Amino acid sequence: MPRILSLVLLALMLSVVPIQMVAAQDQAEGELQVTASADSSEETSAQMLQSQAEKEKRLEEAIKYQRAKNTLYFADQGYSILFLALFLFLGISAFLRRQVEKITKKRFWVVAFYTILFLIIAFIVGFPSSYYGFSLEHKFGLSNQTFSGWFGEQLLALAVMAIIALIAVEGIYLALKKAPRTWWIYVSVVFIIFTIVLVNLAPILIMPLFNVYTPLPEGELRDRLVKLSAKADVEVGDIFTMDMSKQTKKANAMFTGLGNTKRIVLGDNMVDEFTADEIEVVIAHEMGHNLLRHIWQGILFSAVLAAIGFFIIHLTGPRVITRFKSRLKIENMADVASLPLILLIFSIYSIITMPIGPAFSRHMERQADKFALDMTQNKEAFISTMNELAYMNLSDPNPSPVMEFLLYDHPPISKRIKFAQEYRF
Ligand SMILES: [Zn+2]
Repeated sequence: MPRILSLVLLALMLSVVPIQMVAAQDQAEGELQVTASADSSEETSAQMLQSQAEKEKRLEEAIKYQRAKNTLYFADQGYSILFLALFLFLGISAFLRRQVEKITKKRFWVVAFYTILFLIIAFIVGFPSSYYGFSLEHKFGLSNQTFSGWFGEQLLALAVMAIIALIAVEGIYLALKKAPRTWWIYVSVVFIIFTIVLVNLAPILIMPLFNVYTPLPEGELRDRLVKLSAKADVEVGDIFTMDMSKQTKKANAMFTGLGNTKRIVLGDNMVDEFTADEIEVVIAHEMGHNLLRHIWQGILFSAVLAAIGFFIIHLTGPRVITRFKSRLKIENMADVASLPLILLIFSIYSIITMPIGPAFSRHMERQADKFALDMTQNKEAFISTMNELAYMNLSDPNPSPVMEFLLYDHPPISKRIKFAQEYRF
């Protein structure tokens, strides 16, 4: 999805995104089938040499892949800011609003039509970089998706985004109109409530639009997991598998939902390729997120970050409008043509605060890893899970400290392994 679009509700979407086993940045997957780790004593030395060479080749690929993804990420950030600035300062935004006003003068509909048109333009402008992201997955043999399958999902995501954005933008401009001085307080409060509702509804309303979720069937694996949850003294809740292989060759698992929709989800690739011991580690990690209330912490965290952002928009937005009045042709902040200005300030703010979110997330991930180790008491399975995830997902186990600081919402795989090796029960 184009980054410009996701800016519309950046912080909001942050909390809707489930907590995954591996970082989004890490998610790639391998073409080579990964089989359950064979007992090395049974391998001949020739086989070992061969698998060593294969591993090294895979590592090289992972470094190239991550580098390409990071470059795309930063280029996309710059591109979004350039688009928003041009849209605003060339007067295109005011022009668009004037065109909408030719159809209707009703404030509600002006905001609605402007928002929809803006989203469509942003989608088209952002399309080349989205497509490049899709082609990267193919280049590295990580995708299972055809172009039409992928494009259909992009359109579906745009539709979902449009509904959420309409509600949010109408709310923001209503507050800006009715309470020009205190709007940011109202918006921050409503933002929290809206986020909670969305996080609760996402697993039943939004996620099933993209994938099929099936309860983990009765059987040995389920029995083991129920036993594990009894040991942890947590409700196992619902465990689902999802047809992640529809999109990707990568493996992942996640904890998502809130209240009555809380659930652990395993990608089908993981169920197929990982041993029962390894899946137990993954589930224990996700249970850790549940028990430690990480979704709530994430919501609170994004709410604080967003509230500060709204306050900064309140402080700086009107000044920019006054300073460049003749150029922007925008009356005041309550004019919907100021939407790109709000997004522009928000994106500069989110670049400045970029390392904060990942640092907070890495802290929670470390806690969940610790929980998984305590629960399973199985360091070997933990380490082989990490190795397998890195292999399948083409993640660079040793990223540069700068990239880790700016982007990694999970500790790099090498650090997660080292943590397990040195962990004392
Ligand atoms: Zn996690």
